[in-house]
Amino acid sequence: MGRNTFRNIIIAIIVIASISIGIKKFDLLGLESPETIRNTAQLNQNVVSSRMTYGRFLEYLEMGWVKQVDLYDNSRNAIIQASSPELGNRPQTIRVEIPVGASQLIQKLKEYNIDFDAHPAERKNLFISLASNIILPILFISGLIYFFQNSENLGGTSGPSPMNLGKSTARFERRPDTGITFKDIAGIDEAKGEFEEIVSFLKEPEKYTIVGAKIPKGILLVGPPGTGKTLLAKAIANEADVPFFSVAGSEFVEMFIGIGAARVRDLFKKASENAPCIVFIDEIDAVGRERGAGVGGGNDEREQTLNQLLTEMDGFKENKGVIVVGATNRVDILDAALLRPGRFDRQVTVNLPDRLGRVEILKVHARNKPLSDDVSLVQLANRTPGFSGADLANLLNEAAILATRYKKSKITKKEVNEAADRIIGGIAGTPLEDTKNKRLIAYHEVGHAITGTVLKSHDELEKITLTPRGGAKGLTWFTPNEDQTLLSRAALLARIIATLGGRAAEQVVFGEPEITTGASSDLQQVTNLARQMVTRFGMSNIGPMALEDENTGQVFLGGNMTSGSEYAENIADRIDDEVCKIINYCEQKAIEIISDNRVIIDLIVEKLLDVETMDGDEFRKLLTTYTVLPNKNTPYQSKFN
Ligand code: ADP
Ligand code: ZN
Repeated sequence: MGRNTFRNIIIAIIVIASISIGIKKFDLLGLESPETIRNTAQLNQNVVSSRMTYGRFLEYLEMGWVKQVDLYDNSRNAIIQASSPELGNRPQTIRVEIPVGASQLIQKLKEYNIDFDAHPAERKNLFISLASNIILPILFISGLIYFFQNSENLGGTSGPSPMNLGKSTARFERRPDTGITFKDIAGIDEAKGEFEEIVSFLKEPEKYTIVGAKIPKGILLVGPPGTGKTLLAKAIANEADVPFFSVAGSEFVEMFIGIGAARVRDLFKKASENAPCIVFIDEIDAVGRERGAGVGGGNDEREQTLNQLLTEMDGFKENKGVIVVGATNRVDILDAALLRPGRFDRQVTVNLPDRLGRVEILKVHARNKPLSDDVSLVQLANRTPGFSGADLANLLNEAAILATRYKKSKITKKEVNEAADRIIGGIAGTPLEDTKNKRLIAYHEVGHAITGTVLKSHDELEKITLTPRGGAKGLTWFTPNEDQTLLSRAALLARIIATLGGRAAEQVVFGEPEITTGASSDLQQVTNLARQMVTRFGMSNIGPMALEDENTGQVFLGGNMTSGSEYAENIADRIDDEVCKIINYCEQKAIEIISDNRVIIDLIVEKLLDVETMDGDEFRKLLTTYTVLPNKNTPYQSKFN
């Protein structure tokens, strides 16, 4: 009892002391100039109760009432000694703030023969600054460590010590009962295959060693966030039934030199004691960044940590069975030494899932969720190119939350769609009142929808809505085609036409003078696309040439070959010509389509103003009463439903 109270008091003292050390840390980081603090303190020490404006101070100067001036903060503050009839002719100390740019002040002071002194922002004595900024905290912390180690030895309260600085913070699960198995991971089959092999090594190492096979010590998982890298590492540990250590690279990067390296040493010590096991280092780029490449030269702490990691990986014998799995999405910035044989010599790329992968991942996450029959995971996968596994898990979770909010026992299509809309388009705003503006927006959106629908090469219409979302007043969604990296010329033109379709509808229906600014982002997209067709894809009369570099925008063809960033004049003119030609052609097409369908557009707009949101099927049904729709190729639709 008595000891606990004593301990609490000590902890309170430590907390207070730590806070003051925290303030020192700002100093170390240079966040606040120490000079400023010190001078302000000095100012405060003087009597600062009375103040005076700079203008008044000048008057005092002229009247000869000022006796002495002390300047601080690079002449931004002054403490003056003055006496005047106003002040009862008694000498007083007064503070004056000097405006920036009052540069003739010193000149004036000399003129009036005032006794003045400028107090420069003096540097602290190097030793004192070392002592207070570095040595004292280190002494203090060493004291702390000593205190806690001893108090533990005394057999005091058990439990983890709050001050295990040099100890690894890795979360360690002796028998990982994460419950994660390979069945919970979908859509990344190649990576899974690679890892199944590792599992069999961990289970029966003799099978491999007997034929002299070496299993890699380090495997680097490379891929965007949320694609299942952590999941994979957990699954191997679980499937092989070996301990699992997990740590984030950023946890090694510390304020104090040497601590990161000590943690690495500690982690590997624990790991080899528990071999065979898996060590998972997430965000390994936080430690593994190329050495000497940091901002402002090197970062000693990080380099020491990285060197320690390299030493440890070289040190342990492969057949001991410590397998290090690193994860990063920036393999390009890793230090080459990390990738050498015997270290992370095997790389496994984990990509964003494709459409089929998304269906499989959705299935995994729908397992424990009651879905109503109208929910189609295939349709959802179609809508979500670019989504990671984590995004998809999040989507279904969001839908489940919505279902709870609406007090439903099953998740229906409505919640799933609402969740997808939120994640793709942002939170919905309140619908507009039925004004002329809303009508105009309706025509604009229907213009996009109808051009996109009648063009064979355009993506299929998903839905059209007048509910504002994420900055847009109305939205037309198309189901994106799976492979956005390989688009045909026809598909690009169709996209330009449909993007111009909104403005074309405004123009045809309301007339030229009523065209609004609402289409500005449409126009930007159109111009970009058309320009790329000319300069990158060779889809114009200039011919099949890449005129500029995809990433750098560097110009390939020009007066002085490759060095310039400007085209030779005639090439530049021709590019502009071709871009204009494409856009003009597409605008004509868009206007044509809108004019041809004018009657049905009016009908659809009325309906849309009524229902706010219309899905693609309903839209197409209305449209077929008037015109024949092209048969768009969606081979995968039939395969699954
Ligand atoms: P990473 O480590 O690549 O950033 P995680 O493995 O932490 O991603 O994934 C986060 C979550 O996203 C997982 O817990 C899981 O719910 C989900 N997830 C990600 N990828 C997949 C996948 N391929 N299959 C199933 N679920 C996945
Ligand atoms: Zn638009």
